[in-house]
Amino acid sequence: MNRLLSSLVLLALVSACVGPPNGRRPTSERPVPLAPQSPELKQCLAELGRYQARYALLPDRNYGSGCSTISSVQLTGVGIPISNITAIQCPLALNLAIWTREAVQPAARQVFGERVVRLESFGSYSCRNVKGRPQMAGTRSEHATANAVDISGFVLADGRRIAVDSGWNGTDDERRFLRSVRAAACKRFRTVLSPDFNAAHQDHFHFDLGRGPFCR
Ligand SMILES: [Zn+2]
Repeated sequence: MNRLLSSLVLLALVSACVGPPNGRRPTSERPVPLAPQSPELKQCLAELGRYQARYALLPDRNYGSGCSTISSVQLTGVGIPISNITAIQCPLALNLAIWTREAVQPAARQVFGERVVRLESFGSYSCRNVKGRPQMAGTRSEHATANAVDISGFVLADGRRIAVDSGWNGTDDERRFLRSVRAAACKRFRTVLSPDFNAAHQDHFHFDLGRGPFCR
């Protein structure tokens, strides 16, 4: 029953972000004119600033084939530097910044007695389909709209690096820290996938603001 429910939830998760039918010729990059900033985007950007995020607003772009970067920023910091983010939707960036301040830092302080000074990621925007789930072959990932981010590690002030890959089943402290920040992420993001979910997520946490809630 649980398994069936999970499958249904997963189907629901992706139903809203299905790209055009397979086989359609991908169109080349098609910049669309910059729309005036919506009140929501303006507020999101202001809040990002309050969390000491470092970002540059990007023009809205529709790349065709279900891929776009709308209301997105290039994000280099969420209070602390973050690597590898080329484009990420503002609300997702904001939730990442809040999670970093309100969950990651307290957990690091409690478990390691240290501050996290850098987040490592595998990126956000990627014009691609869902990976590692054959039943979803051909389905656009939330990454295709910059509405998902993959977090791979945390660097502490003393230079230690807590990687999702080695730490998930690592020392007691690493395990405790990673499970604590995942639990907090499940309250903040719509979908959270960790090494507990499948082999494709062995080395990172996937967070998105698509359909949900789903947390594993
Ligand atoms: Zn992902």
